[in-house]
Amino acid sequence: MTSSYIPYGKQSITQADIDAVVEVLQSDWLTQGPAIARFEQTVAAYTGAAHGVAVNSATSALHMACLALGLGPGDWLWTSPNTFVASANVGLYCGAQVDFVDIDPRTYNLSVECLAAKLAQAEAEQRLPKVVVPVHFAGQSCNIATIHRLAQRYGFAILEDASHAIGATYQGEAVGCGRFSDLTVFSFHPVKIITTGEGGMVMTNRPELYEKLIRLRTHGITREAHLMTEPSHGPWYYQQLELGLNYRMTDIQAALGTSQMDRLDTFVARRRELAARYDDRLQGLPLTCPWQHPETQSSWHLYVVRLHLDSLGKSHRQVFESLRQAGIGVNLHYIPVHTQPYYQALGFQWGDFPQAEQYYREAISLPLYYGLTDAEQDRVIQVLQEVLA
Ligand SMILES: *Cc1c(COP(=O)(O)O)cnc(C)c1O
Repeated sequence: MTSSYIPYGKQSITQADIDAVVEVLQSDWLTQGPAIARFEQTVAAYTGAAHGVAVNSATSALHMACLALGLGPGDWLWTSPNTFVASANVGLYCGAQVDFVDIDPRTYNLSVECLAAKLAQAEAEQRLPKVVVPVHFAGQSCNIATIHRLAQRYGFAILEDASHAIGATYQGEAVGCGRFSDLTVFSFHPVKIITTGEGGMVMTNRPELYEKLIRLRTHGITREAHLMTEPSHGPWYYQQLELGLNYRMTDIQAALGTSQMDRLDTFVARRRELAARYDDRLQGLPLTCPWQHPETQSSWHLYVVRLHLDSLGKSHRQVFESLRQAGIGVNLHYIPVHTQPYYQALGFQWGDFPQAEQYYREAISLPLYYGLTDAEQDRVIQVLQEVLA
């Protein structure tokens, strides 16, 4: 039974990955050694960003990015309700307040029309956001050029949550290049496109943000001569300039990450192939396949279908449970963040973001990962056909 269970996501580890990790274990550095810089340079070169800062998770990366942007008490962070809770929580970590912008009913990304309307209203009420966090849901980029135009008009910073989207493109350029944003974050959790076990990275083209991120990752400490405000006491001297954290990634993880980067394009190519097979073979079923904007090329972290419940005669939950019982590891991305008990206690209510809520009532994430075979995918499709029949 367990051997025939098809999960919704799974990492792919080769002997080359294992060798890269073992090499670090046998070296002088388990952390803060040369593997970190190599991984950062590899991701920066791939995306076209000037800098990358590797950390122990994407959650840490988002938190540090908000701190580097100066987010704090009295400020607002806005994000999508259709995301993992971390995209919103990091605003609260900084003592800021969090609000949401409803989603586009086709892409399931933050809607730029809703954003524009909410900004106009917030300007009138003098509570404009300091940071907006667009989430590239399932690996498809948001309409980031339009968000950038709004940022120029209203003066907020853009922090892209690209946890799903390493390997994706927008207007022909890699997500993470930073053409239209201040900072971009990737996640390397095992279900994401590439993995370091746990891990994340912040990309930026802005040197002053880069310097801050480097310090925030290690307790707010610097050894760089040009940042010293006190005369050096001697070669032992280091200086704490702000209240930082210990969010460092290990060299063991970074070596795995660099090795995985060798196969990023291969991973994404297979995910695209599997997504195209789903598109093709799910035709005619009472569901909506993921719509893709022509300016985007998704990395396909997730493949989400929306059930046509009106014509089904079965509930969302019944379909979900039938698939799970048949050994298909379907999942649901995401329960709208504002409906979580913690956020309801802050004053959010069901009904606040109707598109995200409607989407949640119909969505199911089908298995999608590099190692999924055609035969396994055909089984998913066959079971789905039977359940929806
Ligand atoms: C996975 C994920 C995160 C958090 O990533 P971690 O590396 O697990 O901290 C944040 N945002 C989104 C959209 C995610 O999918």
